Amino acid sequence: MYTEIDNIDLPPRLLRLGDPNLYEISTPLKLPDELPLAQKILKLMELAVKNIDAVGIAAPQIGILKRIIMFEVPAQHPRYKIDNAAIPMHVLINPKYKPISDDQNLEWEACLSVPGMMGQVPRFTHIEYEYTDLLGKHHVLHASNFHARVVQHELDHLDGILYPLRIQNRQTVGFREEIMESELFLESRK
Ligand SMILES: [Zn+2]
Repeated sequence: MYTEIDNIDLPPRLLRLGDPNLYEISTPLKLPDELPLAQKILKLMELAVKNIDAVGIAAPQIGILKRIIMFEVPAQHPRYKIDNAAIPMHVLINPKYKPISDDQNLEWEACLSVPGMMGQVPRFTHIEYEYTDLLGKHHVLHASNFHARVVQHELDHLDGILYPLRIQNRQTVGFREEIMESELFLESRK
């Protein structure tokens, strides 16, 4: 773990599956005192995903074990089924979620820390989540489907969980090219 974020390599290196930092539980930021720290972490996360096709990133993925994530909901995506209105990239500090129904769904996910691969992951379909933004404002929102999935994926990183650990049918994890040609994937896109 980096104790001093000023010592981090630039651009920050994306940690990959197997790095023990990815299995740690991250600590909350102290608010409002650590809002400037959140700002610094955001800059580093932005640098890490510059020129990369990323829907979201969590601070532990660059070795900063703090509860901060950022994500967007794109209007459309070649690999994901998206039925939500687009949401621009934004930052969530100390986010939490809870399911608001027992409904779950199975869809494809990928992760910057598991490059080149995809897998089919069960997630809650409808959630309520809350977070603080960079101005210190608290938000409570409801999300469904893809939007809810991204929140659950990114929050899992803060608790040391990567999506492959949630896969139930292990035949649904593989390299992107192979998966995207598989009958399972093509069927799921219909
Ligand atoms: Zn991820």
